[in-house]
Formats: sequence, C-alpha cells, structure tokens
Amino acid sequence: MAKVIERPKLTWYEHLYLPAVAQGLAMTFREMFKPNITMQYPEERQVFYDDYRGAPVLVKDELGREKCVSCQLCEFICPPKAIVIEPGEIPHDDPDNHVEKAPREFFIDMLRCIYCGMCEEICPEEAIFMSSEYELNGTNRAELIHNKAKLYERGGKRVDSIRKWKDK
Ligand code: SF4
Ligand code: SF4
Repeated sequence: MAKVIERPKLTWYEHLYLPAVAQGLAMTFREMFKPNITMQYPEERQVFYDDYRGAPVLVKDELGREKCVSCQLCEFICPPKAIVIEPGEIPHDDPDNHVEKAPREFFIDMLRCIYCGMCEEICPEEAIFMSSEYELNGTNRAELIHNKAKLYERGGKRVDSIRKWKDK
C-alpha cells in the first residue's frame, strides 16, 4: 500500500524565498573563486598509474621478438570472447625455431572487451598487457577490432625475465 507522506509546512521566512535565492547565489560566488578542477580535455590528459587497466596490447622483447607463443590461454579465458588467435609456426630456417609457435594473427575486438585483465593474468609469457590507453575511437566497427600489427604498435617493447627465445 502506498504510504502518504505529509508535506512539511513552510514557515513565513521560507515563504519569502529570497533568503534561499541569496544562499544559492552565495554558494555560486564561493565556487567561482575556487581553483578550477575541470580537466580541459583534449588539451589536458589524465595521467594514470602503471596498474591502470586500459586497452590490452601485445608486447615484444627487448630485441623486438614476439613474446606470444600462441598458446591461446587468453583466448580461452576471455569472458566476452573478444580475443581470436590464429596460431602459426616459426619457419625451420629461422634461428629461433626452437620456439615452435607464434601467432600468425591475433585480434582483440575492443567492442567486446570489458577490460577485466584476465588475459594479462593468465599469460605464461607476459606477452599481453593492459596498457594505459583509454582513447579508443573509430569511424566504423571494423576499426575497433585491433589486429596483431596494431596491438604490437601500441604495446611496443617490454623487458622482463621471461624469455621464450632463450635456448633451452
Ligand atoms: S598472449 Fe599469452 S596467453 Fe595469449 S596466446 Fe600469447 S602467450 Fe598465450
Ligand atoms: S581484458 Fe578481459 S575482456 Fe578484454 S581481452 Fe582481456 S580477457 Fe578479454
């Protein structure tokens, strides 16, 4: 059953309304002289901490070699199925062919990605990272499906202790 709530009765002072108007204007003037905290985007941009979870990207090692071994764990774990990997082989005449696989193609659909970071968590090679990239736009849907070239372009190189290319 609906509950009827009595309206409070206004006093004669509240009926004047002018004090309330004056209070509102006083607050407006106080705010006018405070420092401006509005960010003037895009001239000013947010700086994020290293652990910010922006768009996922692929990274290469310090010698520019792909760290990804196309194990497809990230593809398997991705909740919205945003990752699609086409595994490829390293050619036999390649000096690094002791590593069997590298992705022939790697797609991340940024229209599906929910920035959960599970791909980064599960990757055994530390080849995929959540970047600080937060500006994702395009003129059509296809532009927001990032392919391998785009993912490496955004990810760049990353030096760490995991080296699949090192001779076993
Ligand atoms: S990014 Fe990592 S988890 Fe995903 S396929 Fe490559 S090595 Fe495996
Ligand atoms: S951040 Fe989450 S949703 Fe986005 S690609 Fe990685 S696992 Fe998939």
